[in-house]
This record gives sequence, C-alpha cells and structure tokens, in this order.
Amino acid sequence: MRLAKCGVGFLLTCCVQHILLVYCPTPLFAYQHTHKNFTVHMREEIPPEITGVLDRVDRLLAAADLNDETQHHEIYIINSFALSRFLLLRNVHFGCNLPNGNTYVTSADVVNDVARCETISPDDRRIRTLSETITHEIVHALIRNRVGWRADQRLPAWIKEGYCEFVADGSAIDHRTGLKMLKSVSGDFTPGLQNFRWRLMIEYLIAARRMTIHEIIRHPPTYRLVESEVIAALRGDEAALLERLGSRIATPRPRPGETPGGPESR
Ligand SMILES: [Zn+2]
Repeated sequence: MRLAKCGVGFLLTCCVQHILLVYCPTPLFAYQHTHKNFTVHMREEIPPEITGVLDRVDRLLAAADLNDETQHHEIYIINSFALSRFLLLRNVHFGCNLPNGNTYVTSADVVNDVARCETISPDDRRIRTLSETITHEIVHALIRNRVGWRADQRLPAWIKEGYCEFVADGSAIDHRTGLKMLKSVSGDFTPGLQNFRWRLMIEYLIAARRMTIHEIIRHPPTYRLVESEVIAALRGDEAALLERLGSRIATPRPRPGETPGGPESR
C-alpha cells in the first residue's frame, strides 16, 4: 500500500514537472533573442538572420484582421526530434501553439528561413519557410484569443487551419502540386494537401465571397458546400478562379530553395 502511494506520488510529481517544463521551457533553451513583438528561444546560438525571419512574420501578421499588435509572442525552436517528442508528447510535424500562446517549432534552419517536417516517416520530408511556420502557429493563438478557448475547440479545423495558412501565405506543398491534385479526380493524396485545400477554401470565402474572418468564425459555412464550389470552379476554369482570388495563391512567394520567379526546386 505504502509502495503504491509512493508510486502515485512519483507519477504526479513527474506530471507536474512535465507540465511546468512545457509551459515554462526557458531553462532548456540557453539563448534568447527579442525583436519587435517576438522572443525566440533556442538551445544553440541564434543566427542574426532571425531578424529577417521575424520581420517577414511581422509583415504577414500585420495584414491579418485578427492581428493584435500589443501581443508578445514566445517562440521555441527545439531542433531535436527526441526533445520535441518528450516535450510535446506527440508527433508534431512543423510546429504547434499551446494554450498559453507559446509557439514551438520542431526543426529549423534559421539562416535559410527553412522549417522541416519532423516525423518518424521517411516518406514525409517536407520543408516550408520558417517565417510561414511561425506565422501559422501564432495565428492559432490569435484565433483562440479572439474567440476564447471553448469556442476555439468547437471551431471546425478547416476554418482554423485554412485561415492560419491563408495568413502565412504559403503551404507545405508547392501550389502547382496542390492545385493539380485538387483538380484531379483520381483522389491522389500527398501530405500537406489537406491544409492546402482548406487554405484555398478560406481564400475563396474571403476574396471571392467577400466574407470577413469574423463572419466566417461567427457563422461557419457548410464545409461540403464551400468545398464543392471551390473544386467545381477550379476544374471549370483555374485561371478565372485564381484571378478572382487575387494574386496571393496565383503568384505565391518563393518556397525554400527557389529563386523568385525561378522554377520549382521540388
Ligand atoms: Zn495549424
């Protein structure tokens, strides 16, 4: 009996310590750099290129209706698969944002503005820009702050993820692959396609249907209706749809490894 009590006590202590570490992980990250509304934490020295990355995040957020210029953002770049699994207790692909607003990025090359997908699957080695990844995760916090934790839990994933991708103005797959797969009737799938589809749907609601994100959140449209409208428009006349959506998805920003206007590198 006494042994069982000791075991339960030990387990509780471990849980409390783990929660403290996840929510106050600063002791694990020896280096910090603050720029504008952001503090980046890393376990290794932070390259000066982080300033450019954060400037890009700042510009992307500034264009978002839900942005809050008074809010400060804590960003932890883990750069260790083992530590990432230990802290977050799950397989996080690029990053995540916790209920206290902390953003975690699992693996990044700050110098080249690259975030890597960290999975145990050798088939999923996607990359995207670090600035997109940080922006995406911060937008999760902005949505939660705006609607509250309970409403955020009830909000459909396609609206949350789609809006995060819309503000981040990028995807974990290149747009040509994404558009081609959505147009195809074969049902081909690649990791990242789901978020690309959701981003296109949100972009459609905002740019073509002239809805604000506040209206979308207050009265979420029916998923199937929006999806079928977007896919029908895409299969009917892709160029006309992209024109209606404006320049954002039609002329995406270069992906990691691409030169502006150059060919897709992957
Ligand atoms: Zn997300």
